[in-house]
Amino acid sequence: MHDVIVIGGGPAGASAAIYLQRSKLDVLLIMKDYGTLEKTQHIDNYWAFEDTMDGKELVEQGIAQAKRLGVLVKQEEVLNIENFNDFSVKTNKGEHHAKAVLLATGQTKPNLRVKGFREYTGKGISFCAICDGFIYRNKKIAVIGNRAFMSEELETLQNFTDDITVFTNGLDLEVEVDQPVNTEKITEIKGNDVVEKIVTENGEYKVDAIFIAMGTPSANDFALRIGAFTKNNNILVDDNFMTNVDGLFAAGDCIGGLLQIVKAASDGAHAAIAMNKYVRSLKK
Ligand SMILES: Cc1cc2nc3c(=O)[nH]c(=O)nc-3n(C[C@H](O)[C@H](O)[C@H](O)COP(=O)(O)OP(=O)(O)OC[C@H]3O[C@@H](n4cnc5c(N)ncnc54)[C@H](O)[C@@H]3O)c2cc1C
Repeated sequence: MHDVIVIGGGPAGASAAIYLQRSKLDVLLIMKDYGTLEKTQHIDNYWAFEDTMDGKELVEQGIAQAKRLGVLVKQEEVLNIENFNDFSVKTNKGEHHAKAVLLATGQTKPNLRVKGFREYTGKGISFCAICDGFIYRNKKIAVIGNRAFMSEELETLQNFTDDITVFTNGLDLEVEVDQPVNTEKITEIKGNDVVEKIVTENGEYKVDAIFIAMGTPSANDFALRIGAFTKNNNILVDDNFMTNVDGLFAAGDCIGGLLQIVKAASDGAHAAIAMNKYVRSLKK
């Protein structure tokens, strides 16, 4: 078991991992890619670079620095986090355990942009199978997604009903599933008081509930599953960057505020100092 798992290799995650490793903790950093900075070619407002800096190069250097200092870095996609005796972090390649976890996964992306989406959110549209699946037992369920995150949700929903259709919303299906699959683009969600239909470019499909599991799970998705509080798509943390879940910390864009590299790196350092104290208090 690791002392700390840092999820995210951007400025917040890498900065935290560097501070944690230098405090002589056992740190695993998990990142799926280069994050927000991957396609940002001109950074001119970050301190100490005479020439304009490429975002991907900046992230690469941060990760190289973390590795040089001894941080174990794995390129994996985190699909779920559970918290029983310790934190169990499930990825597309396996499972890792730690005493504390830092969410540094960047900003939550906007969701499905179709008519009716906002209106029926919470009225049949759900973002968490483990939270709401039971409500729809033996009902007709749609899951929207095309990747490993969708499979993860599908696995949970199968415990509640056999009537599940996967909607990829025009994207290629990247995982194998046993359920029927609809790859048409979704144009509208219809209903009365609650969700009743998914409308696509080619037809209408009756459903009792829709579970959203598009792309990669964000900090918000993890928060929902583990019971961490959020506000306006931001994870809520205290002065020590800890969420309301003991041992679960968050830093960088996923907690809101100034969405800039310098603030994300600073958050990471602050969170690391508090996490170091937290982990050491468990060892006593
Ligand atoms: C177009 C654009 C230009 C910008 N230009 C500037 C600029 O010039 N100067 C500036 O200061 N700021 C700029 N920003 C803002 C800056 O990019 C962010 O504030 C900063 O990157 C936030 O750092 P972070 O570590 O919180 O998140 P990110 O940098 O987004 O890093 C998130 C990390 O989490 C990982 N991750 C996410 N989900 C998962 C998962 N499920 N499993 C595993 N890993 C996961 C990602 O792979 C990534 O490593 C720009 C942003 C944009 C969009």
